[in-house]
Amino acid sequence: MAAILIDGAAIARELYADFKQRVSALGSRGVRPGLAAILIGDNPASEVYVRTKTRACAEVGVHSVQHRFGVDCPEREVVELINCLNADPAIHGILVQLPLPPRLNAERILQSIAADKDVDGFNWTNLGAMVAGHTLLAPCTPLGIMTMLDREGIALEGRNAVVIGRSVIVGKPLALMLIARGATVTVCNSKTRDLRQYTSLADILIVAAGKPGVVDGSMLKPGAVVIDVGINRLPDGKLTGDVDFASASLVASRITPVPGGVGRMTVAMLIANTVTAAERSIGAG
Ligand code: NAD
Repeated sequence: MAAILIDGAAIARELYADFKQRVSALGSRGVRPGLAAILIGDNPASEVYVRTKTRACAEVGVHSVQHRFGVDCPEREVVELINCLNADPAIHGILVQLPLPPRLNAERILQSIAADKDVDGFNWTNLGAMVAGHTLLAPCTPLGIMTMLDREGIALEGRNAVVIGRSVIVGKPLALMLIARGATVTVCNSKTRDLRQYTSLADILIVAAGKPGVVDGSMLKPGAVVIDVGINRLPDGKLTGDVDFASASLVASRITPVPGGVGRMTVAMLIANTVTAAERSIGAG
């Protein structure tokens, strides 16, 4: 039987209706949420991501500004701009679009964003809070996945959740969020021996490896929920996930598409975090 599709685009649309109301409630208190996006270099994918995020801001009434730097810009100038934005009351969220040119120290740049404006959730204060079971501003992709699972009514407590990938932006924070919700969590990485041994136990399998086809239907427990985080561009220009959709959708009970799945939720969570940060700035969050 074919799996039911988890429609990230439809869930995101519902969330946007809620964000609009929150933005309007803030407006009646004289606050318009503001997001500053910093783009460094000329990575075409980054251009697309920033454009998508800017469009999402416009859709819900969040004010957005873009700051651009050339590929050779000194790190000091970027940090100086972030310091100004940290102090700017019209800006509630700051994001630095990744990846950065390798010459720049991404860690130093990201950590200079004030924790309460860190809408990507990469500041150590925000990441560290999750270790203690709290969510301040959480990284957008894991937050989007958790929101998606909740909106679909998928129970987590007592279930086996397997996360493939241990990056700081997806796998690790997601594992912490799943642990906080009572799932039994396994985190696999590129050194994991016999990946199938773990995937075949997963009630919920989340794949964030950046490797097309790393998981196929033969590796799944029948009825598993499969969340495909991967975004990979094929030689013909098409986008594909990390999961072999054709075979997996015959075994899974539910599955996310790529595109139209997790990516849409990631953008929605950036807006959610920006609105939350604006609410907190007036003690309303
Ligand atoms: P990353 O390269 O930082 O991390 C990949 C992780 O996968 C690593 O921990 C690595 O050990 C693990 N891995 C790689 N090959 C593996 C294998 N064969 N078996 C098991 N583990 C393996 O990547 P990332 O930033 O976490 O992103 C992962 C993917 O998710 C990429 O395709 C990226 O484009 C995509 N992504 C999508 C969104 C979204 O909004 N949909 C957001 C962030 C990242």
